[in-house]
Amino acid sequence: MAKINYKSTRDDTNEVTASQAILQGLATDGGLYVPTEIPKLSIDYTKLAKMSYQEVAYFVMSQFFTDFTEEELKSCIEKAYDAKFDNLKIAPLKKVGTEYYLELFHGSTIAFKDMALSILPYLMITSAKKNQSTKEIVILTATSGDTGKAAMAGFSDVPNTKIIVFYPKNGVSPIQERQMVTQRGKNTYVVGIEGNFDVAQTNVKAMFNNVKLKEKMKQKNYQFSSANSINIGRLIPQIVYYYYAYGQLLDQGLIQAGEPTNFTVPTGNFGNILAGYYAKKAGLPIQKLLCASNKNKVLTDFFKTGIYDRNRPFYVTSSPSMDILISSNLERLLYHATGNSAEQTKIKMAELTAKGRYTISREMKQNLSDFVAGFATEEEISTEIAMTMEQEGYVLDPHTAVAAQVYHTYQKQTQDPLATVILATASPYKFPRVVVESLRPEQVALTDFELVNKLAEISQIAVPKAVKEIENAAILHDTVIASKDMEVTVEKILDV
Ligand SMILES: *Cc1c(COP(=O)(O)O)cnc(C)c1O
Repeated sequence: MAKINYKSTRDDTNEVTASQAILQGLATDGGLYVPTEIPKLSIDYTKLAKMSYQEVAYFVMSQFFTDFTEEELKSCIEKAYDAKFDNLKIAPLKKVGTEYYLELFHGSTIAFKDMALSILPYLMITSAKKNQSTKEIVILTATSGDTGKAAMAGFSDVPNTKIIVFYPKNGVSPIQERQMVTQRGKNTYVVGIEGNFDVAQTNVKAMFNNVKLKEKMKQKNYQFSSANSINIGRLIPQIVYYYYAYGQLLDQGLIQAGEPTNFTVPTGNFGNILAGYYAKKAGLPIQKLLCASNKNKVLTDFFKTGIYDRNRPFYVTSSPSMDILISSNLERLLYHATGNSAEQTKIKMAELTAKGRYTISREMKQNLSDFVAGFATEEEISTEIAMTMEQEGYVLDPHTAVAAQVYHTYQKQTQDPLATVILATASPYKFPRVVVESLRPEQVALTDFELVNKLAEISQIAVPKAVKEIENAAILHDTVIASKDMEVTVEKILDV
């Protein structure tokens, strides 16, 4: 097995092991870590069809995290993918009409972030041990709604760690907010900011690269790391469920071994779909990756025109986890599209910082032919939720509805006959207002928790534990700050 290291997208000479990359989160030069090589995974399809999620997880991760021992990795996987998930399959594939939904919302916070954030804390502690680090790890995270809670659920009371989460005060759903502000665990801190996710993410990245702050942290024996999807400890575990989905398609007799498939991914920070790109490069038979956006369609425009331009109005939509204008992980794709040139990537990213836009060459654009992009308006999302319920009796959350809509439009235009998996990234119970408004518009006067019960009645799906347990939970975090005060807030929390 080839040894895989990780290199910064902005500096070729900055090469570290997987465990070091997981510990650091972001490279010191501001770039993101990418594998020095995408390993070719050879798999027996007959076997894949019968493998459990945990087995696929080991198969995939062992080839990307080559400095972990078998014992270390298996122990991380066992602790991560256990009874926290309310489905034995962890990520079940459901056939609904003529399409296939891969349900990634059976973890403790009922959104797909659980898939990677259930394992990240274990990967991180193991990485610290492997590198003889005795520093306390401080996880600093900006969230558009789902990462924050999923990260806290993962790190809550994990020894030798603290986690600080920033979320846009007016940019998350009431259920998402309640999930966060009721978070227990002595080492968890949740702070609302006046500003949107992009501001939060930019300021968090700036703190990672703030030399003065890092020096102060060092004196108190702290080390920053990131639970955002810029950490390869999140990215690589996401490759697993592309393989697992393929195995389930085989097992259910829906495709033949080796047959190409498409995946449609509701996209924000470009982490989920990038994992699909890596799966394809590793050899999984994927034809197209459909990048689905909401009204904040900066990515749709990018794939169509080759121009990335964040200078545009920012919309708060019914799919808040995709309300993003700076998709961090696109930097990794850009790096690969330049033929792995750190020099060129660095120039583009500097342009993005300075002008808020950059243009890629025709050659680079040709390297992005694995992707098809589209977007859905608020009205289309609502219609999609209503139609899928009416025709198939299946309830979509607004993020998944974006993907379904984009897939249906693509299908109509191309008549593409390939089996297409739609990644279902959140439970409809996380966004009961939008879902019930789409299904029963006359019920809008209800509170969010009344809407939860209404949804149970309509969908005949039991209310998940994650929602039940927050209804009457005490609010433990109520700090709201201006976005410019994020750094002083961190200093205060850590007493540095
Ligand atoms: C985070 C999230 C997305 C977007 O995923 P990215 O990896 O950021 O592109 C989509 N849907 C839901 C429900 C999410 O939580």
